[in-house]
Amino acid sequence: MTLNLPRGIVICEVGPRDGLQNESVQLSVADKVALIDMAIAAGARRIEIGSFVSVKAVPSMADTDEVALRLSRREGVEYRVLVANLAGLKRSEAAGIDKVKLTVSASETHALKNLGRTPAKVMQDFAECVAFARAHNMAVAGAISTAFGCPYEGQVALEKVRSLIESFLALDVTELSLSDTAGVANPRQVYDYCTTLQAEYPAVQWTLHFHDTRGLGLANVLAGMLAGVVHYDAAFAGLGGCPFAPGATGNIATEDLVHMAEALQVETGFDLTKLLVLGRRVQELVGRITDSALLRVERRDETQ
Ligand code: ZN
Repeated sequence: MTLNLPRGIVICEVGPRDGLQNESVQLSVADKVALIDMAIAAGARRIEIGSFVSVKAVPSMADTDEVALRLSRREGVEYRVLVANLAGLKRSEAAGIDKVKLTVSASETHALKNLGRTPAKVMQDFAECVAFARAHNMAVAGAISTAFGCPYEGQVALEKVRSLIESFLALDVTELSLSDTAGVANPRQVYDYCTTLQAEYPAVQWTLHFHDTRGLGLANVLAGMLAGVVHYDAAFAGLGGCPFAPGATGNIATEDLVHMAEALQVETGFDLTKLLVLGRRVQELVGRITDSALLRVERRDETQ
């Protein structure tokens, strides 16, 4: 019996957004732009450069407009941002963004703490956001956070996830991310969710977004790959967290994911050596050792 893995996977680099939003160190616009350029040079073709959400709630993303305007756009690269409401859509349009990611939480409590609205109300408000995006030639993706469990509520019923998927499909949004914001997913759950939901909603292009809070991030990716999912989010140097998910640690590290994929002979289009240079630069800029297995190995090798 052989492992039934996809030939290749597509990784969206979310370090500039999910990674940096939870760091206490505020990077300059120039540093953010430089990291984005390095990620693209390392092979990223999809990159989440920031978010247009409440500046008060997430001050580290207040300069996303400026980051977007200062970037030198490369052909074939998708520059995406996370948005939560129409104000964010308007900022995206002004900044020339390619794709907006509309995020809603499957957990009522998380949604209320994060956006001050219930998931149903958030979805209702998304109708005008989608209309605005389409009227201004921006592609739209949807993301369902706390899809595998919630830091406040614990288990989140799959039924709640289904209801959000259906709301997105009603708006004709077919690129959807299942996000393990709290880092509580396990490989069996991931495999079950992915096989079930892919069968139920064949029109959807799925992305999986894992945090490595409990050390299961890459195991969850493997479960997703075995279920046939080919799109994954990851953050350089394993940065990340969620200001509204207490104790949530980093995203899976892009370099660790690429390393695993290479070992499994699954193509990513990334250059691992360049990713390690990028990861080291990220650690320098944030001034701390981040949760990246490969960068830790490198440091150990240097001291031996
Ligand atoms: Zn996240």
